[in-house]
Amino acid sequence: MNEPGLGNISIVLVNTSHPGNIGASARAMKNMGLSKLVLVRPKEFPSGVATGRAASAVDLLEQARVVDSLGAAIADSGLVIGASARSRRIPWPLLTPEQCARQALTEVTGNRVALVFGREDTGLSNEELRLCHYHVRIPANPGYSSLNLAAAVLVVCYELHKAALPEAGGEAAAAEREWDREMATSEDVERFYEHLERVLVAVDFHDPKNPRQLMHRIRRLFGRTRIDVMEMNILRGMLTHIENNLTDRD
Ligand code: SAH
Repeated sequence: MNEPGLGNISIVLVNTSHPGNIGASARAMKNMGLSKLVLVRPKEFPSGVATGRAASAVDLLEQARVVDSLGAAIADSGLVIGASARSRRIPWPLLTPEQCARQALTEVTGNRVALVFGREDTGLSNEELRLCHYHVRIPANPGYSSLNLAAAVLVVCYELHKAALPEAGGEAAAAEREWDREMATSEDVERFYEHLERVLVAVDFHDPKNPRQLMHRIRRLFGRTRIDVMEMNILRGMLTHIENNLTDRD
């Protein structure tokens, strides 16, 4: 792809019901210079309807990765942004499509970025939205703000395309976040949350029977920063030492 960084950004479609939406999303992506499509348990794929709607973007369908869970789709990503039309009980960092594009381009150096879109009927579950660092909402008519899935993909990809153009400073955005280490992937961070929860239970800080949104808030806290691999090793090392000391005392 000619725009800097767009090749490292995937579009993830979760549990899509209508194959036509998969095809139309692939077309929208290719129009805007994106190429990596990931499908999480699509209802019907491959499909003639998807191929028809993709027009000259069938290559994206042929190369699409089909996976079993959102966790698998984003395992190698360091930045995950979920598209949602609704607001949630515990607010999550929210971006406009322009901010989303800027954030993605800024972080795409040394990171894989995933943009996640939900089901046509129910969108993304709270559980799925929790796996995202940010949410992006396309401002729309408050009385009817839910766009067709492929239309939402088009708006988000259009902003990425515009932001990546040289005259919009696409390369400058990519250079903004130079870092000496690679970022931890989503899979590493998930393992860290599991480890942290185990230790918090062991030291009686956290009662899984009365969770009070603790792990949800901790996710939001750590999600506000991107942890690199070295920092992740330090955090995991600290937890292991706490665990070892607890066992030594038993
Ligand atoms: N009825 C669903 C909306 C599903 S639309 C709901 O209430 O959540 C299918 C997908 O398109 C959504 O999951 C979301 O990823 C995307 N989408 C639709 N409208 C959007 C908007 N205004 N802002 C951001 N994403 C949107």
